[in-house]
Amino acid sequence: MTDEIKTKEELIAEVQQLRFKVFEMEKHLEYLSHFDTLTDLPNRALFIDRVEQYVTSARRYGFIMAVIFLGVDRFKMINQSFGHDLGDIVLKEISSRLAACVRDSDTVGRMSGDEFALILSKIAKEEDAVIVANKIISSMRKAFIVDGREISLSASVGITLYPSDGKDADTLTRNASTAMRRVKETTGDNYNFFTSMMNDMVSKRLTLESSLRKALERDEMHVFYQPQFDVSSQRVIGMEALIRWIHPEHGMISPLNFIPLAEETGLIVPIGEWVLRTACSQTKAWIDEYGPMRVGVNLSMRQFKEKNMIDTVSRALIDSGLDSKYLELELTESTAMHDADGTIAVINELKNLGITVSIDDFGTGYSSLSYLKNLPISTLKIDQSFIKSMTENKNDTAIVKAIINMAHSLTLNVIAEGVETEQHLNILGDLKCDEVQGYFFSKPLPVAEFEKLLKMSKKG
Ligand code: C2E
Ligand code: MG
Ligand code: MG
Repeated sequence: MTDEIKTKEELIAEVQQLRFKVFEMEKHLEYLSHFDTLTDLPNRALFIDRVEQYVTSARRYGFIMAVIFLGVDRFKMINQSFGHDLGDIVLKEISSRLAACVRDSDTVGRMSGDEFALILSKIAKEEDAVIVANKIISSMRKAFIVDGREISLSASVGITLYPSDGKDADTLTRNASTAMRRVKETTGDNYNFFTSMMNDMVSKRLTLESSLRKALERDEMHVFYQPQFDVSSQRVIGMEALIRWIHPEHGMISPLNFIPLAEETGLIVPIGEWVLRTACSQTKAWIDEYGPMRVGVNLSMRQFKEKNMIDTVSRALIDSGLDSKYLELELTESTAMHDADGTIAVINELKNLGITVSIDDFGTGYSSLSYLKNLPISTLKIDQSFIKSMTENKNDTAIVKAIINMAHSLTLNVIAEGVETEQHLNILGDLKCDEVQGYFFSKPLPVAEFEKLLKMSKKG
C-alpha cells in the first residue's frame, strides 16, 4: 500500500472544501433551530424573538401591536382519517393562506403541530386586529382540495394587544394562546380577545359602526338648531346646526359619542355633507319666511381636509339657493392650526365664495396667536368651559375678557358658548361680548320648535 503524498495545494483545497461543508451544516442547523421545515415559517423560538423585537419598537414609538394565535379546529381528525401526508399538505396550504392575510412586514409563525401565530407589528386601533382575525377565519373556511378530496376546516383565533394584554413577548403569546383555547373549547370558528373588556369594547364599537353606516338611509339623523343672540338687542341673529342621532333602540345618541367614530371611519364625510345640505335648505326657507339669519355648521378635520370640500359646500349653497353670506363654517382650533399654510389657502377660497369661518371651542386648543392673526376668519367662539366657571373663578373671567379684547383688536366677532345663567349674560355684556348661545336662552331645538321661537321673535 502506497501512501499517497498530497501536495500542499491539494491539502489547501481539501481544507477549503471541509470548511465549506461545515459552513453549510451550520447554516442548516441555524435554519433548523429557527424555522419549521414543513412550512418554512419561523418556529416558536424565532417567532417569540420577533415579538420581542416588535415590542421594543412599539414601546419606543408608542404603537399598538397585536399577536394573533390560531388553532385549527379538529385537526387531529384530518390526520386520523386521511393520514399524516395529507395532513402535511393541508398545513402547508394553511401557512400560505395565513401569509396572504397580512402585510409583508407582519410575521407568521408555526407554533406547534396545528397552531400558528401572527404578529401585526403596528396597528392604528384595536378593531384592525379584528379585521385581520376575520380575514383569517374566513380564509380557513374555504374548502381545502387535496388529492381530489374536499376538506372543510375552521380556525379558533385568540388576540392579545400590546400594551394592554402583556408587556413582553412571552406574556403576549401565552395570553393569545389562552384566548384561542377559550374559542376552541366552546364554539370554534371565531375569535376572542384575551381581555373580556376588550371583547365588549370592540363589539360595541363594531355594532355602533355598522348602525352608523345605516343611520342616514334609515332617516335616524336629524339636525337640531340652537339659537344665537345678539347681546345688546337680545334678538335671534342666527343658529348653530347640531346633529342628533335618534337610534330606534338606544334613543338620542350624543354627537360626542359618534362623531369621533364617524371621523375615524370616514363616515363623517357623507354625514357632514348631509348636515350641510339640510342646514342650508332649512335656513333658506326660514330666511324667506322670517328674514335674514346666519347658520353655523361644524366641519370636522376630516371634512375640512377633503379634496373636494369647496365643491361640496358650493353645491350645497347652489342647490338650496342660500346666499353664501348666511353660512358660517365652524372649525376647531386643532383643525385650523393643522397645516397652517394649507388652512389659510382653503379659508381664503371659502371667503372668496362669501362664506365666513369661525374658530370653535376657542381657548381649549393651542392656537399660535401670531398665526391666528393671519387666519382669514371672522369669528371666535369662546369655549363653554370658560363661561361656566366665570362665576366661580376670577381667572376664567380674566381669560374671557382677554379673548374678547384680543378678538376685537383683530376685528373679529366674538360669541360665547354655554351661557347658562343671567349672571353669565351680565358679565359677558359688561365685557362687550357680541353674541351668546346657551341653555339660558334655549337648548338645541328640533325644526318645529325652532320655528315657534322664530315666530315669537318676529312678533316681539
Ligand atoms: P360644538 O360645536 O362646540 O357645539 C356646542 C355644544 O354645546 C353642543 O353640544 C350644544 O348642545 C352644547 N351647548 C350649547 N349650549 C350649552 C349650554 O348652555 N350648556 C351646556 N352644557 N352645553 C351647551 P352637542 O350638540 O352635544 O355637540 C357636541 C359637539 O359635537 C359639537 O360641539 C361639535 O363639535 C360636534 N358636532 C355636533 N354636530 C356636528 C356636525 O354636524 N358635524 C360635526 N363635524 N360635528 C358636530
Ligand atoms: Mg360648533
Ligand atoms: Mg363649541
